[in-house]
Amino acid sequence: RPYNFFAGPAALPLEVIERAQAELSDFKGIGMSLMEISHRSKEYEEIHDETQQLFKELLQLPEEYKVLFLQGGASTQFSMIPMNFLVPGKIANYVMTGAWAEKAILEARKIGDVFISASGEANNYVEIPSLEDIQVYPQTAAYLHITSNETIAGTQFHSFPRIKNVPLIADMSSDILSRPLDVSQFALIYAGAQKNLGPSGVTVVLLREEIVRNIPENLPVMLKYDTFTKHNSLYNTPPVYSIYIVNLVLKWIKQHGGLVSLEKRNAEKAKLIYDAIDQSGGFYTGMVKLNSRSLMNITFKVHDDELEKLFLQQSKANHFIGLEGHRSVGHLRASTYNAVPYEACKALTDFMIDFQKRYG
Ligand code: PLP
Repeated sequence: RPYNFFAGPAALPLEVIERAQAELSDFKGIGMSLMEISHRSKEYEEIHDETQQLFKELLQLPEEYKVLFLQGGASTQFSMIPMNFLVPGKIANYVMTGAWAEKAILEARKIGDVFISASGEANNYVEIPSLEDIQVYPQTAAYLHITSNETIAGTQFHSFPRIKNVPLIADMSSDILSRPLDVSQFALIYAGAQKNLGPSGVTVVLLREEIVRNIPENLPVMLKYDTFTKHNSLYNTPPVYSIYIVNLVLKWIKQHGGLVSLEKRNAEKAKLIYDAIDQSGGFYTGMVKLNSRSLMNITFKVHDDELEKLFLQQSKANHFIGLEGHRSVGHLRASTYNAVPYEACKALTDFMIDFQKRYG
């Protein structure tokens, strides 16, 4: 298999792919695949409930939290959050950290008043604003929204704002389950699955149940969170196959020691690559400030644009894929999500050092 550094959809653990392959045409002896049977069947319901249970276990979710399975990607959450929680008279607060936060903000503005609580724009998003600089007026705040990991810029919150009486909402699409998390700090967390959780198709939402109490009645049924809480995410047909793969990924995380051990491994993987950048004497440069570096998306550049093109060409020829930076920022990005093996990061580091020796 190639060394897969794509930002998303991204690498899945090989064991998961192989298990899914083995069960594809005959799921647990039923003579059919899971995709071909009712979502109300015993076989599917077991997967559904077990997947929720695995989230609860891995994240040690407090009792009052629900695990929901939605569709429409994280992008639909950008709209659903203000539709459900930004009621007249209230203001939605957003921390502007880059391209994904901006998309969330644009959707919220279509629904109501938005206040930018802090912004990294003046700094070209190379740094997460410091927690002390995040301004929120609790009397009028519907919620405070952050993007825990900005996939494109390569920045990550390493601690989270806590503002009394203001529900904290986080887009964790690109770092969910990459580290232990105190979920009780958040009213709602959402993530498209296709980076750390499984294939695209399911969007996971973790929420504190009390926040769905006052949702406007007149919203379309599929855009109301309480439709999903009331019906255990089985109001309509859920994306059964995506949820099944998420189930296998969560079991894989559990087998590998859970979030504490994943965080350690993710930190070691990222350190290899950041060290290669920092010890290159300027041949490679990291794109963001040290205090905001992401352990999931490592953005960097080669000091010369032509050499950078050559780096990409040669890395491809050596089976490294997905190293191009996002089209809006260019340069290079290595995404080192949970399923990317340590060996892949080591191989990339060796390649970077060797490339520098040849062209430095
Ligand atoms: N938020 C973040 C941080 C992302 O990285 C992405 C996708 O890359 C999205 C939102 C959009 O997710 P989706 O494609 O599931 O709508």
